[in-house]
Amino acid sequence: MNMESPVLDKFLEEVEYAYQNVPFYRKALDKLGVITGELCQDSYQQKLPLTDKRDYRKNFPIGVLAKGFSLNHPMLNKSQSSGTTGERLVTFEIGMNLLQRAITCTQVNPYIQDVFTQPNRKICRYAAPNCSDVECASPHSTLQDRLLADGTLVLPVYHDLLTTSPQLVDRAIDEIEQYKPDLFYVDPTHFAFLLREYKKRGLTPPRIPVITSYSAATEVSKRQILEFYPKTHFAEFLSSSEMGWIAMQCPSGRLHLNEESFFFELLDRNYEPAMAGDLAQLCISSIDQGALPHLRYQTGDMVTQLHGNCECGSKNRSIVIEGRESNFIQLGDGIQHSPLSIDRLIGAPDWLDLYQLEQIEHEKFILKMIVNKKYQAESENAVISNLKGLLGKSVDIRLEVVDYIASERSGKFQAVKGMKIDK
Ligand SMILES: [Zn+2]
Repeated sequence: MNMESPVLDKFLEEVEYAYQNVPFYRKALDKLGVITGELCQDSYQQKLPLTDKRDYRKNFPIGVLAKGFSLNHPMLNKSQSSGTTGERLVTFEIGMNLLQRAITCTQVNPYIQDVFTQPNRKICRYAAPNCSDVECASPHSTLQDRLLADGTLVLPVYHDLLTTSPQLVDRAIDEIEQYKPDLFYVDPTHFAFLLREYKKRGLTPPRIPVITSYSAATEVSKRQILEFYPKTHFAEFLSSSEMGWIAMQCPSGRLHLNEESFFFELLDRNYEPAMAGDLAQLCISSIDQGALPHLRYQTGDMVTQLHGNCECGSKNRSIVIEGRESNFIQLGDGIQHSPLSIDRLIGAPDWLDLYQLEQIEHEKFILKMIVNKKYQAESENAVISNLKGLLGKSVDIRLEVVDYIASERSGKFQAVKGMKIDK
């Protein structure tokens, strides 16, 4: 990063803002003897602490809200992470800041930006109910109950996706027909499920742009979306309940960081800046002096920065998302494999609708597959041999062709589940 980087200046201003206005940061920086006015490009990494969601949970709300804000402040939007109840993180931010972050995020994709910034545009959202900012996304609610102030209709779906009844699918399809959205904002696994249901009924979904939130986005779910939508209608993006919109795919297919709205650091295992091509944790700082500033916040998302410039012309760095650190496959020799590297090996064979690879022990895996009518006996041989090529010839992969795979307790669907390691 060069010295005149305006985003670095904004970051240092945010540090000052947080120090002056947020009790948690004032305490933490005082304890470390940090003098905010003396921070510069060469010193902030040594001097400023990294933070994570434990800090926010522990100090919420009084310790982390900026001066002048309270939870019932009329300008604030509430959002919460999809974690299980005990882990769930509640966040507040100024609605206008969140909207501005979303708009700058879409800059790398003019097609999506045009639709997103149209006045009165309508969005249909299809994702796990508690990821959708409405408590009332329950199947028993009406369309009106699930309509958000920003023109988003949250479609009804069960918490455990594959238990969604045919009647509820019919309702979601009817509501799409009735609401006439301009944009789909969806979880890719959920949307692939909905598209299979359209197909079963011989129906076609509206031909509108689709943005898919990154949440275990698999090649298999992308293949099913691309059966209905041309590449130009479809962009992946990364968002989080704490930050809002973080990265979006450009028309050239790269996922660009939203560097107009955030200060990003890609850090290696030793918390040093990672090189392009190396595995890194994504750490984010807000720079818009909002209600809940975040400094050097560790997201837990593991990414790799791509080399070189993108042909779309954006100067913003581009990344691939390797997966959540907690979902990595851990082999006995200390080697780790990201959910993304597993998904690339599985690929998008046309006989496969949904899968889950779960690691049971260092050398034991269960591969559950939901297949379609193109499946034939031994179709999976190539997939198994790819996996063994990476994980080792001696690993035991138990194969199960099933018609149901459970979602996580959070409502998200996890395609690759590493072994839980006690830390
Ligand atoms: Zn690009």
